Amino acid sequence: MRLIAPLAIALCLVAALHEAGDTPELDLVIRNGRVVDGAGNPAAYQDVGIQDGRIAAVGRVTERGRREIDARGRIVAPGFIDVHTHAENVTSRPAAENFVRMGVTSIVLGNCGSSELDVAAFFRKVEETKVALNVATLFGHNTARRAAMGGSFNRAPTEEELDRMRQHVDQAMRDGAVGLSTGLIYLPGTFARTEEIVELAKAAAAHDGIYASHMRNEGAGIDAALNELFRVAREARIRAHVSHIKLGGKPAWGRAPAVLAALEAARAEGLDVTQDQYVYTASSTGLGNLVPASAREGGAARFRERLENPDEKARIIAQMKETLRRGGRESYDYAVIASYRADRSLNGKTIPEAAKAKRGADTLDDQIELILEIEQSGGGSGIYHGMDETDLQTFLRHPNTMIASDSGVRARDEGVPHPRGYGNNARVLGRYVRELKVLRLEDAVRRMTSLPAGVFGLRDRGLLRPGAWADVAVFDPEKVEDAATFSDPHHYARGVTHVLVNGVPVVDGGEQTAARPGMALRRR
Ligand SMILES: [Zn+2]
Repeated sequence: MRLIAPLAIALCLVAALHEAGDTPELDLVIRNGRVVDGAGNPAAYQDVGIQDGRIAAVGRVTERGRREIDARGRIVAPGFIDVHTHAENVTSRPAAENFVRMGVTSIVLGNCGSSELDVAAFFRKVEETKVALNVATLFGHNTARRAAMGGSFNRAPTEEELDRMRQHVDQAMRDGAVGLSTGLIYLPGTFARTEEIVELAKAAAAHDGIYASHMRNEGAGIDAALNELFRVAREARIRAHVSHIKLGGKPAWGRAPAVLAALEAARAEGLDVTQDQYVYTASSTGLGNLVPASAREGGAARFRERLENPDEKARIIAQMKETLRRGGRESYDYAVIASYRADRSLNGKTIPEAAKAKRGADTLDDQIELILEIEQSGGGSGIYHGMDETDLQTFLRHPNTMIASDSGVRARDEGVPHPRGYGNNARVLGRYVRELKVLRLEDAVRRMTSLPAGVFGLRDRGLLRPGAWADVAVFDPEKVEDAATFSDPHHYARGVTHVLVNGVPVVDGGEQTAARPGMALRRR
C-alpha cells in the first residue's frame, strides 16, 4: 500500500498534465511571420517549429514551444550562406558578429586560392574553439603551390611538385573541403598555367568538389579569363564558379551583358557555371597587388634587391604606369588605404593623400614610391573604387548570382575596411530589393540560401523545410539596411532581429547572444 499510493498519484499527475496540454512540445516556435522559404516561393504567413536543432514543422504549428518568438511584421527566412569569405580568422574572433548581425549563419572560407593547408586540423580547431556560425572551406591552390614548391616562383612545377599539389588537394577533399579555389592575380597562383589548374581541379572533381576562381582578369581582359575558367570546367569535368563577379576599370564598363552572355553560352554547352557578387562598386585586396607580381616573386628580400637595382626599379615603375594606363587611369586616386599596420595614420587616405602626407607631394612618381614603401614595410590592404553601378545591377539580376561578402571577421574599429563585411546582405535587402526593386525579396533570399547551399553542397541547409537544420534569419523588410559606409564602416546591419544557428539564437532581439552553436561543415 505504501508503495502503490505514490505511484498512483504520480500517474494521475502525468495524466492531468497531458490533458491540460501544458507540456512544451517543441524547443522553439516562430509565429506570425511571413516565411520566405529560400526556394524562391512567394512569402506566406506560416509558423516555424524547431526541435533538436532542426526544423520540425512549417505551416500552422499547434504545438507549443518552450520558447516562442513573435515575428509579426517580419520575414522569416533561412539563415544566409556566404560562399565567398576570407574568415580564416573565425577561430580568433569566434562571435563573427559582422556576419551574424546581417543574418549570415554559414560561411565558406578558403577563397581566392588561400586556405589552411591542413583542413582536418582547421576543422578540429573550429570545433574546439566553438564559433557562432557554421564553417565550410575550400582548399586554396596558392596554399598548395607554396607548400609543394617551397615559395612563390615564376615557373611551372616539376612533375613531382605537381604530384605533391595533387596530393594536397586530394587530402583536403578527404578532410571535408567543398572544393578548390584559385586566386590567379595573387602570388604564387598567378604563375600557374591553365594545365596545372586543370590537373588540380580533376583531383577536386574526383570528390565532387567545386572549382571557385578569382579569375586572372576582372577588367578589360575578362574574356580570356572566363575562357580559362570554362576550360577548367570542361577538361576537369567540374562545377565552376566565378568569385566576386565584377568589371573593374572604365575601359571594361558596360560589358556586363556580354559577360553574362558568355556564362549563358557556357551553360548551354553543358558546363555548370555560377557566380557570386558583393553589391558595392569598390573592391578590396592587398595594396601589394598594385606592384607587379614578377617584382614580388621569391619573397621580401628579393623584392628589396630588385628595388635597389636602378634598372630593375625603373622597369617596375614603368610597368605600374602601364597597368594604370590600361585601366584608363592617370593616378591612384581610386585607391584608399584600408589598413596599414606600419603607419595607421594613413588608414582611410587615398594614395595621393597619403603620398602628400608622407612625402610632401602627390605626383604619380610620389604615389608609386609610397606604394613600394608600403610593400617593403609589411604591406597593407586597400579599397579600389573602380566599378560601374549599371554593371553591378546587371550582374545582380542574373538568377545564378549568389550574394557573398568577400570579407573576413571584422574587429570593431580596426582600420577602415570595406563596408561589405558589415553590410552586404542587408544592403541587398534594403537598397536593391526595397528601394530600387532590382530583385524580388524571395529571389534575393534564394540567392543567399538554397542557391549557394545547392551549388556548394551544404546539405540540409538553405531551405525552411522539415528536416533541415534550423538556421534562420528574422528581419523587418521595411527596416533592414546596411549601416556601414566606406568612410565609417564599423557599424552592424540594422533590422535583423533574430538569427538562429542550428536552432540556437545567436542574435536575439537585435543583439548578439553568447551562444556559439556553429558546426564544422565537412563535405560528405
Ligand atoms: Zn578574390
